[in-house]
Amino acid sequence: MIDVRLAAVSKRFDKSSDAAAVDNVTITIGAGEFFTLLGPSGCGKTTTLRMVAGFYFPTSGHIHFGDDDVTRWSPNKRDTGMVFQNYALFPHMSVAQNVAYGLKVRRVSREERTRRINEALAQVHLTGYGDRRIDALSGGQQQRVALARALVIRPRTLLLDEPLSNLDAKLREETRTEIRRIHRESGLTSIYVTHDQAEAMSMSDRIAVMQSGKVQQVGAPQEIYYRPTNSFVARFIGRSNVLSLPVVGAAETQVQVRLPGGATLDVGAASGHGLTEGDTALVSARPEHITLAGSNDEAALRGRITHIEFTGMATHLNVDVDGIDVMAAVIDPPTGIKLDDVVGLRLVAERLWVVRP
Ligand code: ATP
Repeated sequence: MIDVRLAAVSKRFDKSSDAAAVDNVTITIGAGEFFTLLGPSGCGKTTTLRMVAGFYFPTSGHIHFGDDDVTRWSPNKRDTGMVFQNYALFPHMSVAQNVAYGLKVRRVSREERTRRINEALAQVHLTGYGDRRIDALSGGQQQRVALARALVIRPRTLLLDEPLSNLDAKLREETRTEIRRIHRESGLTSIYVTHDQAEAMSMSDRIAVMQSGKVQQVGAPQEIYYRPTNSFVARFIGRSNVLSLPVVGAAETQVQVRLPGGATLDVGAASGHGLTEGDTALVSARPEHITLAGSNDEAALRGRITHIEFTGMATHLNVDVDGIDVMAAVIDPPTGIKLDDVVGLRLVAERLWVVRP
C-alpha cells in the first residue's frame, strides 16, 4: 500500500490563458484510503485524476507514489488500475480477453494469465463469465469487467472516473456498495471522481471538494457536511441555507449572531474566522436543522410557507422570512399544514456553522 501525494500541481491546457484547469492542488491520499474528488462539471477533477494516471503531465508541481516521484512517468510504469465512465471495453471480445489485456501488455505467461483472470473475476463476483461476450452483458456486469481489468494487473493505485454514471439509479446504489467491498478487500489506495455528492458522501473515507480548478475543502464526509468551509461547499453538499446575520459578539471558535426576530444565537466557527461585532456572518443551516416551532415556543424565525414538498422521509418547506427563502425539512409535520400558513421556525443551534463567502 502506498500513499499518493500531489504537491502544488497545476495544469494549463492553454498557456496563453490565465485560467488553469487545475490550480495549485496539494493533497495527500493516505495508503489504503478511498479518496474522492468531487465537484461540478468542469472543476478539474478528471484532469487531476488523469495527471495521477499519467495521461497528462502537470504544467507545474509534483506527484509522488510513496517514495517515487512519478510526475514524468508514463502511465504503464505507474501501475495504476483505471476504470472509465464508458468502461472502454472491447465489445466483440470475451470477458476473459478484455481482462487479459493488461497482462498481455506486461507479457505475463499464459498459465499465470488464466490464474489471475479467474482471481480478478472472483473479486468482482463474475466467476464463470470468462467466455461471455461483452455485448451480451448488462451495464452493471460490464462495469464489473472494467473493474476486474483494472484489478488484474495488481495495481499500486485504483483510479475510478465517474464509473457509475451510466447505470440506472438502483444499480448505481448497489454498485457503490460493491466498489466499497472491493476496496476493503483489496486495500488499494483508491481515487474516485464524481460530481454526485451523495455518491461521494456514502463511499469515501475523505473527499476533496473542487471548484474552478481549486480544492475548496478536504475532509471526511461528516466534516464537510457539518463544517463546510465556505458557502460553495455548504450549498454543493446536500442542501443548505446560507443566512447573512449580523454579528453581535465573537470568540475564537464561536460567533454570536442576531436573528431577524431579535433573539441571539451562538454558532460554531473555525478558529481564525476573523469576524467581529458589526460584521455580517454567513451561517450555514441544513434544512433538517430547521424545524417547526410548537405554538407555545419562542420561535427563532417566523415566516410564511411558500412551497411544500413531501419526500417520504421528511416534508420540505420553503418559508419566506422577511424576504429570505429558508428551507426546512420536517419529519411528521402537523396535519393540515398548508401554503401561506405563517409558522415559527426553530434552529438547532449546535448544528449551525459559520462559513466563509
Ligand atoms: P466533467 O465532470 O464535466 O468531466 P471535470 O470536473 O472532470 O468535469 P475537467 O474535465 O478536468 O473537469 O476539465 C477542467 C477544465 O479543463 C475545463 O474547463 C475543461 O474544458 C478543460 N479541459 C479538460 N480537458 C481539456 C483538454 N484536453 N484540452 C483543453 N481543455 C481541457
